[in-house]
Amino acid sequence: MKNRALQLIWGKAVIGLILLLLLVSCATVPLTGRKQLNLIPEGEMLSMSYTQYDQVKKESRLSTNQAEITMIKNVGTRISQAAESFLREKGVSMKFDWEFILIDDDQVANAWCMPGGKVAFYTGILPITKTETGIAVVMGHEVAHALAKHGNERMSQGLLVQLGGLTLAKALESKPEATQSLYMQAFGLGAQVGFLLPYSRKHESEADHIGLILMAKAGYNPQEAVSFWERMSQSGGQAPPEFLSTHPANQTRINDLKKLLPEAMKYYKK
Ligand SMILES: [Zn+2]
Repeated sequence: MKNRALQLIWGKAVIGLILLLLLVSCATVPLTGRKQLNLIPEGEMLSMSYTQYDQVKKESRLSTNQAEITMIKNVGTRISQAAESFLREKGVSMKFDWEFILIDDDQVANAWCMPGGKVAFYTGILPITKTETGIAVVMGHEVAHALAKHGNERMSQGLLVQLGGLTLAKALESKPEATQSLYMQAFGLGAQVGFLLPYSRKHESEADHIGLILMAKAGYNPQEAVSFWERMSQSGGQAPPEFLSTHPANQTRINDLKKLLPEAMKYYKK
């Protein structure tokens, strides 16, 4: 009985905290204008990102295939320039220290971009991207997740659920493992740690939308995104690659992309 009363009080305190945080921590996603919850200060996000990226570089076998590395870096440079110009046009300021690595792992079909523009591709995704434009589809999509601060939003939701009433400063300080595990989940680093958290439909369509515009601005034909996702859905088979299990390539997604093409084509033709 006592426990139940305590639970109720605790529950109310948590809801109160959530409402307060919602009031003070709303940010807006550029382009879509959606309000989002970002509890983690930008500096904190960047420092976690840089630490984690260094860790990944230390623990992974990096590709030595110069042709493929050059292709990833070229696409990365063009998409990053498009991203910065996109943000300037939207009047958004964001800090970047771009870096692009290719991890030699044919078993992992994945790619991600952490805050500050720290990007990794795994060689396992190259048979599906096929061409430089295919890489631009994935690069644009992943960089778009970073521009829209989806990682911060995912971590913020995770903090509320898993750490409950702890204040953020306390959580970051006293629960480094839980905080780190949330970070890994938020950025889809599941391949290394053994769990995968699919992105929400909302985040996916935002990243698809912004990603199409980024690739078009960078001079890549956005129509190629449709073919990429078709190849992605065919490559599923028995055991889906990481990127597919976190980014299901269903018909709805492909139809939505087709609807966004006329807007993206305007940027491509400029
Ligand atoms: Zn995504």
